[in-house]
Amino acid sequence: MKWKTLEAINDACADLRHSKEGCMFYQNTNEWRHCPDTLALRDMIFSEIQDIEDLVPLGKSLGICPYYASREALPIAEVVTLPYQYLLSESTRSSLQINLENSIVIIDEAHNLIETINSIYSSQISLEDLKNCHKGIVTYFNKFKSRLNPGNRVNLLKLNSLLMTLIQFIVKNFKKIGQEIDPNDMFTGSNIDTLNIHKLLRYIKVSKIAYKIDTYNQALKEEESSKNENPIKETHKKSVSSQPLLFKVSQFLYCLTNLTSEGQFLKNYSIKYMLLEPSKPFESILNQAKCVVLAGGTMEPMSEFLSNLLPEVPSEDITTLSCNHVIPKENLQTYITNQPELEFTFEKRMSPSLVNNHLFQFFVDLSKAVPKKGGIVAFFPSYQYLAHVIQCWKQNDRFATLNNVRKIFYEAKDGDDILSGYSDSVAEGRGSLLLAIVGGKLSEGINFQDDLCRAVVMVGLPFPNIFSGELIVKRKHLAAKIMKSGGTEEEASRATKEFMENICMKAVNQSVGRAIRHANDYANIYLLDVRYNRPNFRKKLSRWVQDSINSEHTTHQVISSTRKFFSMRSLNSR
Ligand code: SF4
Repeated sequence: MKWKTLEAINDACADLRHSKEGCMFYQNTNEWRHCPDTLALRDMIFSEIQDIEDLVPLGKSLGICPYYASREALPIAEVVTLPYQYLLSESTRSSLQINLENSIVIIDEAHNLIETINSIYSSQISLEDLKNCHKGIVTYFNKFKSRLNPGNRVNLLKLNSLLMTLIQFIVKNFKKIGQEIDPNDMFTGSNIDTLNIHKLLRYIKVSKIAYKIDTYNQALKEEESSKNENPIKETHKKSVSSQPLLFKVSQFLYCLTNLTSEGQFLKNYSIKYMLLEPSKPFESILNQAKCVVLAGGTMEPMSEFLSNLLPEVPSEDITTLSCNHVIPKENLQTYITNQPELEFTFEKRMSPSLVNNHLFQFFVDLSKAVPKKGGIVAFFPSYQYLAHVIQCWKQNDRFATLNNVRKIFYEAKDGDDILSGYSDSVAEGRGSLLLAIVGGKLSEGINFQDDLCRAVVMVGLPFPNIFSGELIVKRKHLAAKIMKSGGTEEEASRATKEFMENICMKAVNQSVGRAIRHANDYANIYLLDVRYNRPNFRKKLSRWVQDSINSEHTTHQVISSTRKFFSMRSLNSR
């Protein structure tokens, strides 16, 4: 049986260890830790550099769990590699006994570090989750109350009244999406504020009550559905390895017990705790380690890291280093248009003339200028905008015209996977055009190397939705912080503008970085919006992109320079 997520693997391991039979490869005892086979596997771990997959056959042959044996090796290990989610959570670090004191911490692929910290320390619970959890506890309690000891009974009753308070709060107060709430209001008028949530959380963890409630309720459901002669299909059965709902509730309650000025709540028939100061949880790493290295291919704009992650670190203690790309200079050209019609602001981007004439013509010309065997990948700022463009082109014969020059593949929300079709089409050398979304399935983690992408186009500036509830709260928090520290309104507004620009330009760097994946690769980048000429946007491009900006500006110049670029390449490859 294969488990698809890390969470499911952890749960399956926990299930087996806590089952009657236990896991034959591990026991949580000193005897197991000191038995010759455990020590032998632990020592083998040091014989050469190996990852956990390499240790599996060794563990199998000795009958020892490689994961727990490698944990035994931690105290004397000099180099430890681990997913950075483990590093970033203080509680996980301490449960793994990872001591950062005096160590050098290297965080690779750090471009997503801030988002990862935010998601580790944020939590959301919906009305439906709370209701289901409440119902599950009531059913379990009613069935087993005569067999439960007094401590269990009291804790379950307390847990239920806490859930009821949260349910009533959401039902009573929900007004509009994105509304901020004061966490203290949640318990006003109830006697819940006298309840020790820490104790309840400890009870949930130690008693394994979450698994018991889940297993009982699941069995009831299956029994009921078999009575109805309408058995739950195998695929709809809840996997024994998925997290009990009470764990999700616990995570949320944990956030409730750790309220600080950097947390805020939103609601949308759900309550969300959102971390607003990622620098706070990162502080403990900075304080303990001797030196922290943040490394990544798309770290620009770096100001985002300085202000969000390292605001308290003196500038003389920070060294930044930006390297050139490994490719020779002549393997990359970046074009920024200066054609005023090509401006994709919110007000102008729907213009029929922009979509049907300028944008369409650019793609037709580019499709002809780039050799057919090389694919073109274009990133659009949102699913809605790409859908609008496709719809406009389909209403007349433009879509078919462009499709005749290059086969078009485009991303749609909840659409099928288009990457394999596009890759096959490129491999056949038929001339292919992939229209993708910034922040969509294809903008990160996929290598468009060699012929998969000889031209990458960024259509417009992918600003995030300013009406998103989360961003409203983040901007307000940032402005309030600046005003509180003596800043002016103008400084606050500059900072929030910069915050939005950073999100946008980070997404641009991420997307254009999909092309050119090795030293002999070559491609062109097209930044299709006059606003890219402004210094505030330009300086936030990755250094290697900035260094390759070409001086050709009109669409006509750009296309003829593109032809020259590719004809030089074909001459050189002869
Ligand atoms: S071998 Fe290790 S990781 Fe696998 S189930 Fe047993 S204890 Fe868990």
